[in-house]
Amino acid sequence: MECHKTSGQLVTLVTETTFSLITFSDLGLSQKVLSAVEDAGYRTPTPIQAGAIPPALAGRDILGIAQTGTGKTASFVLPMLSRLEKGRARARMPRTLILEPTRELAAQVQENFITYGKYHKLNIALLIGGVSFEEQNRKLERGADVLIATPGRLLDHQVIDEADRMLDMGFIPDIERIAKLIPFTRQTLFFSATMPAEIQRLSDGFLQNPEEVRVAPAASAATTVTQRVVACKSKDFEKRALLRDLIREQDNLKNAIIFCNRKRDVSDLFRSLERHGFSVGALHGDMDQHSRTAMLQGFRENKIQLLVASDVAARG
Ligand code: AMP
Repeated sequence: MECHKTSGQLVTLVTETTFSLITFSDLGLSQKVLSAVEDAGYRTPTPIQAGAIPPALAGRDILGIAQTGTGKTASFVLPMLSRLEKGRARARMPRTLILEPTRELAAQVQENFITYGKYHKLNIALLIGGVSFEEQNRKLERGADVLIATPGRLLDHQVIDEADRMLDMGFIPDIERIAKLIPFTRQTLFFSATMPAEIQRLSDGFLQNPEEVRVAPAASAATTVTQRVVACKSKDFEKRALLRDLIREQDNLKNAIIFCNRKRDVSDLFRSLERHGFSVGALHGDMDQHSRTAMLQGFRENKIQLLVASDVAARG
């Protein structure tokens, strides 16, 4: 393991080899959690799990930097489950608040709590846009151990008079407002794939003396994935033509997800591929929940071969 001192805090740089000998039972997790992890068939913790779980169990704040797909979810769900075994939920006072940028990610985190929390009796509430919240609200009334939410929906219910302003705001101001609503004495686990200045500023304001765990990006790409860079001309229509050629030259292409970084690019590319006769769907944050679910379902069932998605909608 390499340790670096930056701005007075200890940074743990985790590499694949560092933790190859560490097992889940070395991390200090409770027996119930260990049993669920064993049932899930995991043999060894991933680097972000090995780096983040022990300090999270010790009550430290965490700044975790790791790509999607590196086991980040379990690195906060597992220690949270262990810690939640002490104490009980109280009415309208969720014990843990988890904020996710998209509804799909929020639902995925809930699934993780159900899988890893199979030996716990936890009350989990999910507040996400586009889904009826009556039942979730009842759970909150009774007392939730875990509240998983997208910021928009959360503010909808906690600060109703701010709903119109929220519409005009981006994501970060929402989080800052939520931070003011939750108790000052808290443990915060903050995970991000990248650390642009805006996110760094947010985490600086949010975390107290965090343990910083960075997973080296080289360790995070799955070995089964072949990566290629293709040079292309800069005009959009030229990129689209090249993309069509790339798709057509794949033998046995079963399905594919094409990521774009803007919603407008998603729509343009989707329409273009459709015009050229491809079996294609689109997925981005402006679509209502019903269309998003239907689109994902169609893709899973191979009714749609290509899915064009904004990178935020597609994360995880
Ligand atoms: P995540 O980065 O949280 O989205 O996790 C990516 C995938 O890795 C999920 O399908 C998890 O079920 C799986 N996973 C998480 N932790 C482990 C582990 N320690 N060993 C094997 N698979 C894992």
